[in-house]
Amino acid sequence: MNDLDRYISENADRYTEELRELCAIPSEATDPAALDRAAAWCMERMRGAGCATREVRIADVPALAVGEVGAGRRTLIAVQHYDVQPAVPLELWKSPPYEPAVRDGAMYARGVSDNKGHLLLRIQAIEAHRAAYGELPIRLRFLIEGEEEGGSVDLHRLLEKDPGLTDGDGALKEGGSIDPQGRPSISCGNKGILYVQLHVRTLALDAHSAGATHLPNAAWRLSAALATLVDERGRILVDGFYDDVTPVSAEERERHAAQPWEADEIRRVYGIDRFAWGRDEREAHLASAFEPTCNIAGLWSGYTGSKTKTVIPSEAFCKIDFRLVPEQDPDTLAGLLRAHLDRHGFGDVEIDYVEGERAYRGRTDDPLVRACVAVATEAFGAPAIVIPNNAGTSPMWLVSHAKRLGNATLGMGHVGAAAHAPNENVIMANYWRALRATARLYSEYARA
Ligand SMILES: [Zn+2]
Repeated sequence: MNDLDRYISENADRYTEELRELCAIPSEATDPAALDRAAAWCMERMRGAGCATREVRIADVPALAVGEVGAGRRTLIAVQHYDVQPAVPLELWKSPPYEPAVRDGAMYARGVSDNKGHLLLRIQAIEAHRAAYGELPIRLRFLIEGEEEGGSVDLHRLLEKDPGLTDGDGALKEGGSIDPQGRPSISCGNKGILYVQLHVRTLALDAHSAGATHLPNAAWRLSAALATLVDERGRILVDGFYDDVTPVSAEERERHAAQPWEADEIRRVYGIDRFAWGRDEREAHLASAFEPTCNIAGLWSGYTGSKTKTVIPSEAFCKIDFRLVPEQDPDTLAGLLRAHLDRHGFGDVEIDYVEGERAYRGRTDDPLVRACVAVATEAFGAPAIVIPNNAGTSPMWLVSHAKRLGNATLGMGHVGAAAHAPNENVIMANYWRALRATARLYSEYARA
């Protein structure tokens, strides 16, 4: 056994206890005291690993926990978060979400995969590196925010307090995953998001459905508006929606299409025969990286209880998330959506802008990506897959766009990790592999 593996196995119990401790803090957006405790916990833990720390604060916003350690030619920025998704519905959890439990080699707790396990092992890896190889040959800076699950709405204001925070060469994103074959997946960017809520009122009050001959129904009204947004192939019909999309070259498409993709596994898990929008396997694979989406996340109106109620709903509501690709701007798109609804005669459908984040796609041949591929392939014993960007959203544009930083994930999330869902978990064997890979990365990135 080499020094790195010995150090990790000798400290496995202590490190597991730390993971339990962090995951026991219920740092949901609705609990400012818990967010404060989680921020303080991260600061303390970073100090324990030899980081110089400081807290960046603005009023009524969870603190940005900053830690810095090491010295060298390159600076790596680890962009992480200590907030978690709500744990509800609680009754679907096999053990309480904030009483971390280890069963069959996996730890179950809200946030253990997204993103507390990942952020903690990135701190522990500093100590593992020090024990095996000495001080870090790079400068490593942690930016750990507390609003990621709510769209990082104040991160730009926190970062403006010190422009030096985004000074660097590459950014290590939150999370990271391995596919069902055990191959680590290195993602070089992420999609953005525009989240809106639509609302329409057609009547001053709900009405007896005897009046359906002449009283306007809000549910029909909203459905008609929604039907104008997307065609049957998933193409978004809002005028100008694709104008700012960075073209993807044929070569980039081919490179991505040549990567393995778990089409069968996806169909099996979701119990479907075919993909949406008439997309075949190749089209679905390409779209997951390169196409924006218009997704109805929630839709409600009228009576939805048991038995019957014959009613004409006066109001209807819908939540929509658009996943965006480089260089679409959510604010611009919200304006285009307004213009689209007006032009189609739906001036009465109100749009509430809930959240907007831009997409970011770094270079797939960046030194950081090369280094992550090398260490992940070694630690997981399977060839790493490089994807241009994943289909979810992280605040990487804010940190990366000015200096066009390389981006990469290096993590351990697995297909059954249940991030954002009940019984979120990490497989501890993967945790140790990811910790090993990350400790190795801190040296490898200096050389790559
Ligand atoms: Zn996350």
